[in-house]
Amino acid sequence: YQAKRQKLTTRTFEHWMGQAVAQQLHIAKRLAIAIADTSLYLHFQPQVDMRSGQLIGAEALCRWCDEELGEVPPGQFIAIAEERGMISALGNCVIDQACRQLADWQRQGLQLNGQLAINIAADQFEDDDLIATLLASCHEHAVSPNALSLEITESGIMTHPDDAIAITEVLKSHGMGLSIDDFGTGYSSLAYLKRFSADKIKIDISFVRDMLTSDNDRVIVATIIAMANTLGLQTIAEGIECKAQSDALLMMGCTQAQGYYYDRPLAAEKFAQRWLA
Ligand code: C2E
Ligand code: MG
Ligand code: MG
Ligand code: MG
Repeated sequence: YQAKRQKLTTRTFEHWMGQAVAQQLHIAKRLAIAIADTSLYLHFQPQVDMRSGQLIGAEALCRWCDEELGEVPPGQFIAIAEERGMISALGNCVIDQACRQLADWQRQGLQLNGQLAINIAADQFEDDDLIATLLASCHEHAVSPNALSLEITESGIMTHPDDAIAITEVLKSHGMGLSIDDFGTGYSSLAYLKRFSADKIKIDISFVRDMLTSDNDRVIVATIIAMANTLGLQTIAEGIECKAQSDALLMMGCTQAQGYYYDRPLAAEKFAQRWLA
């Protein structure tokens, strides 16, 4: 009986694994097509000053709606792109579209108050052309590099710390902003943080979500804000969903936020209607 049961679970597990791998492969194939035919697009989420509700910037977030698979969440397809060596191609597509959109708004006489943030994955630092691609894209669309800011996750920095430091040094000299994304989740050391010349820390959504109910999370958030202030870095809180969170953060000295409480990530047109003047 025991042996039979073992065999049954094994077979079920293998079957399940096989299906998951096949599904992932299928998504990867569709994604390669989406990158090539540029059917990926961007949504834009406002970043605001919590005291005034005014726009201080926006984050470009990649979206993919596949003919066959439907809407695939970025949490899923970004991971697949990273695992299968497609993240640079996807990232270049995002860079191009972000610059194109900024140029488009400029042509319409719309002004984005602040910088447009683009997410850069760890492996994009291993791409020798990253700097050239960013600058060329700005040039092509007649967008100033200081209209852009880059978001790099804390764990992304720690994957290739020296490359990240070297590349971002160059990009900063061109006026691009630099934020450390998902801060608090990546085990970075203060030594690297000091060498890495970011101008802003994005407090990870997980701490913000639980800060009203968990003493631990509230202390972590307060500590991140205090540390950032000491190092001369700005802070922005991710995932603000209610006024109570905003009030608590303001008390702790964090004034910038991004979250559903202010607005969801929006299609370009809707974003422009609501947030651009
Ligand atoms: P992220 O860079 O930390 O982006 C913030 C995520 O939090 C976004 O999820 C956004 O929709 C979500 N969010 C914002 N406010 C709230 C809120 O109040 N409540 C909740 N529950 N969520 C909120 P999204 O768009 O699903 O993206 C997930 C992640 O996928 C991003 O996290 C980023 O790591 C990655 N990603 C998205 N676009 C790109 C891209 O173009 N390149 C790269 N490398 N990664 C990307
Ligand atoms: Mg981000
Ligand atoms: Mg984040
Ligand atoms: Mg995240």
